[in-house]
Amino acid sequence: MSTRYIYADNAATTRPDEEAVLAMLPYLREGFGNPSSLYSLGRQAHEGLEEARAQVATCLGAQPNEIYFTASGSEADNWALWGVARQKAKKGHHIVSSKIEHHAILHTLQRLEKEGWEVTYLDVDGEGFIDPAAFEAALRPDTVLATIMFANNEVGTLQPIKQLASIAHDHGILFHTDAVQAVGHVPINVAELGVDLLSLSGHKFHAPKGIGALYVRRSVLLPSFINGGGQERGKRAGTENVAGAVAMAAALKKACAEMDTEMPRIAALRDSLCQQILTNIPRTRLNGPADSSRRLPGNLNVSVDCVEGESIVLLMDMKGVAVSTGSACSTGSLDPSHVLLALGLKAETAHGSVRISLDKENTEEDADYIFRALESTTQRLRAMSPLWEEPRS
Ligand SMILES: *Cc1c(COP(=O)(O)O)cnc(C)c1O
Repeated sequence: MSTRYIYADNAATTRPDEEAVLAMLPYLREGFGNPSSLYSLGRQAHEGLEEARAQVATCLGAQPNEIYFTASGSEADNWALWGVARQKAKKGHHIVSSKIEHHAILHTLQRLEKEGWEVTYLDVDGEGFIDPAAFEAALRPDTVLATIMFANNEVGTLQPIKQLASIAHDHGILFHTDAVQAVGHVPINVAELGVDLLSLSGHKFHAPKGIGALYVRRSVLLPSFINGGGQERGKRAGTENVAGAVAMAAALKKACAEMDTEMPRIAALRDSLCQQILTNIPRTRLNGPADSSRRLPGNLNVSVDCVEGESIVLLMDMKGVAVSTGSACSTGSLDPSHVLLALGLKAETAHGSVRISLDKENTEEDADYIFRALESTTQRLRAMSPLWEEPRS
C-alpha cells in the first residue's frame, strides 16, 4: 500500500477548495441565522445568500433573479424537466433528449413516459456527438422541451449547445442543458448560449456536496417543485443552505478566474497521458472525442482489452490511485455503461473501460504515476486472463 494518494476521479466529485470551506465557516458558526428572519442575524444570512446568488449569476452571465439554489444537480435536472412538462402540458407531450444523458435526466424522463409523455432519445455518433440535423428532425409540433447535456460525464463530449438551443428556439421549443460537468471547467455564458434552463452542482467544481442551482431564464415560467415556505422567490421551499451557497459561489468565482490558465494546462496533461497509454499499453483505445478541444479538459476514457474495469479500479486503488469505470452512479450495477453502448462499443469492451478525470490539483508527476500504475495493473490482470495473448511484434 502506497502512502501516495492520487485522486483522478474528479468527474465523480472534487475536493472542496480551501476558499470555499473558509467562506462557509462563518455561516456555520456565528452567522447561522435563518435568512427569512427579520432581525440582524437573519438579515446577515440573507445578505450572504444574495451575494452568493449574484456571484453565481455573474460567473454564468445571468441575472441574480434567474438563479435558484437547489440541493444538487440531480434536483435541478428533475425540477427543470418536471416543471416544463407541467407548465407546457397544454401545448404537447413530447420531449427530445439523447441516449447518453445522466440518470438524473434519463430516470426523470422515464417517469414522465409512465405518465403519458413521449420522449425521443437521440442517437450519438462514435464520439458521443449529437447530429444537429437529426436533432432538428426530431422536433415536432407537440414538442415542448429539448434537454441535451453540455458535457458528458463518462467520455467528456462537449455538445454544440449554442447551435442546438438556437434550432430549438426556431421551432418555439424550450431548451434545457445539464451542465453539471461543464460549469467551472469550460467557459459558460447563458446569454451567449441562449439556453432557457441550465443545471449545475457545486461538488463538481470544488464546492461541498449538497448544493446546486438551476438557471431559469426570466421569461420561462416554472412551477415550484418543493412546496412550503416562500424561499427562492416561492419556487423552492426549504430553509436555504446558506453556507453551501456561499461556498459554491466562492468555488465558482475561483474556477472562473483560473479557467484561462487551468483549462489548457489540464487538457495538455490529459493529452499527454492519453498518448502515453495508447502508445505503450497494447490494445487500448480512446473512448469519446479525439479532438481535444471538443472534450472536457480533464476527461480521459480508455478501453483496455481483456480486463475488467472494476478490477483495474481496485488494483489501482491499492497503488494509491482513484479512478473509475464510468459513472459513480452506475457502480455496483453489472450493466455496461449506457453511454459507451450508445457510442457503439460492444458490451465486453465497455466492461473493460476506465475513466480518468484530471483536475487542477493534478500534476505531471501524478499523470506519470497514473500511467505506470495502469500499465502494471493491466499487465498483471492480463497475465491472469485466459483471453489475453501477447501481441506479436
Ligand atoms: C454529477 C452529475 C449530476 C448529478 O449531480 P449531483 O449534484 O451529484 O446530484 C447530473 N448530471 C451530470 C452530468 C453529472 O455529472
